[in-house]
Amino acid sequence: MYLKDVVESDVTEEMGAEMAGSSRIDDCVRQRTLKTPVSCTGVGLHSGVNVTLNLTPASPDTGVIFHRVDIDEKNNTVPATWDRVVDTRMCTAIGNDDGVTVGTIEHLMAALAGCGIDNACVELDGPEVPIMDGSSDPFVLLIESAGVVEQSAPRRVIRILKTVNVKVNDGQATLMPADQPSLNVEIDFDSAFISKQALSMGLVNGSFCKELARARTFGFLHEVEQMRAAGLAKGGSLDNAVVVSQDGVLNDGGLRFDDEFVRHKMLDAVGDLFLAGGHIIGQFSGISSGHAVNNALLRALFADSEAWTVDVMTSAEAATAVDGGLGAEPVSALA
Ligand SMILES: [Zn+2]
Repeated sequence: MYLKDVVESDVTEEMGAEMAGSSRIDDCVRQRTLKTPVSCTGVGLHSGVNVTLNLTPASPDTGVIFHRVDIDEKNNTVPATWDRVVDTRMCTAIGNDDGVTVGTIEHLMAALAGCGIDNACVELDGPEVPIMDGSSDPFVLLIESAGVVEQSAPRRVIRILKTVNVKVNDGQATLMPADQPSLNVEIDFDSAFISKQALSMGLVNGSFCKELARARTFGFLHEVEQMRAAGLAKGGSLDNAVVVSQDGVLNDGGLRFDDEFVRHKMLDAVGDLFLAGGHIIGQFSGISSGHAVNNALLRALFADSEAWTVDVMTSAEAATAVDGGLGAEPVSALA
């Protein structure tokens, strides 16, 4: 069952009943989308091809939907949901039943989640989202320049009701009930330069944009060399990834944060968890987690109907990741 079906059968009826007898709708946070279309162009990290991305407003309850505009002979639409994930080895990639895929969606998804966007269409003329500078910051700037508008429908969130835990190889992750969205991430790399890093953060208003968005993806020099030899990471360069050797960071200018590595892992988790189909109210904990663990966690969550519920976000929770610090104009004509 898709989240949208659950939402329509449960929450809308429930809300309709409550709205008839109370003013609960007035206490709800409303959904948000972009005010205007906005676009950027950049190279795909893995494909090495130049891709133009158009980010456009979408109707309430659309969620995030990708369109491969370079494909017209088959279904070119791929909803950004956990059950569409087809590859988590190098990035998070989603695909539809016609085999049309979109790669490297996680940093864009993180920016949309962190900026409090509920609905957006993403048009791409190539196989993956451009890597830009390897972080979410260029997408946050795009969203800021587009502007954000409120829509008439209440925001729907996924509340965690019961702890869910998964392990995949050396990584593990947990979602547990909490009043606010928050994340704990620990990493432990076999590298003197990174080794152990840990970070805990509430995903409260504006924290994503300030603390996480600029953290770049990273790789080790020997892995980069192996990937290049295998024909992977064709678009990778020091302009879009932090590269770590035994002696330190190869990039001019060094790191953007002392703990940029764990911040980027947290950014990835924000993006991957937004594939729940809405903002999660709960606490995420990840230890050596990555895209595979994050997707396994959502699959485990949605396999247990007692572990979650779809609900509206109340105004009392408005300090949570409502707008990522970006102001929104009131209800738009799109609503
Ligand atoms: Zn990443």
